[in-house]
Amino acid sequence: PEGVRLARFLAHAGVASRRHAEELIHVGRVQVNGQTVTTQGVRIDPERDQIYVDGKRVQPTNRKVYILVNKPAGYISTAYDPQQRPTVLALVPPEIRQLRVYPVGRLDSDTSGLLLLTNDGDFALQLTHPRYSTQKHYEALVQGHPTAEALESLRKGVSINEDDGSVYRTSPADVRVVGQSGAGTSLILTLHEGHKRQVRRMLRAVGYPVRQLTRVGVGELTLQDVAPGKWRYLTDAEVRQLR
Ligand code: URA
Repeated sequence: PEGVRLARFLAHAGVASRRHAEELIHVGRVQVNGQTVTTQGVRIDPERDQIYVDGKRVQPTNRKVYILVNKPAGYISTAYDPQQRPTVLALVPPEIRQLRVYPVGRLDSDTSGLLLLTNDGDFALQLTHPRYSTQKHYEALVQGHPTAEALESLRKGVSINEDDGSVYRTSPADVRVVGQSGAGTSLILTLHEGHKRQVRRMLRAVGYPVRQLTRVGVGELTLQDVAPGKWRYLTDAEVRQLR
């Protein structure tokens, strides 16, 4: 079928949730090209048709949004989960979900920390493309106290096993010890790449399995002022800097 359903158009334009948009149509508050429409199946052409709600013109939106979330462990970073586990989209309000934002790259379900959401496909592609190699900073709590040799291997590159059975040699990384206690050692690792479960696999490869993993920074961005489970918009300057 041609066009988009009227309620869907209204929802995407940020007028209301899909259900509320249907309600607006039902009660006669929506006009298409000057005619009140009260049935649900009507399809419109967002480029050509003129849509009004309560007499006010509704423009098709393609507002681009850029959001930083502090993902708690337990949330998965896909837009949809067939197993119905909570996704990171549950961390932002419905009016932002309606703009069709999705995660830029992935964090494991058991990893917490800095994740970007956007509806700007070019921006997402740039940030995840290996060629752009935005720095990502991770804080890992590991069992035990890594030896100088282990730290040196992590810095130079280690061989990790990929899911498909192949072996990948990691690129040089920055590794700093930032704390030690009976519980283990806290490390900050800075990577320029992001293979699946890379930090966990790197640390396992040198004999120090990860107990807790948090992404604390992406490029110049940090988690400062964004508590676990909270979010904020990126500033224009931050968006420009990441591009
Ligand atoms: N490395 C990991 O092991 N897990 C993540 O979620 C991100 C990087």
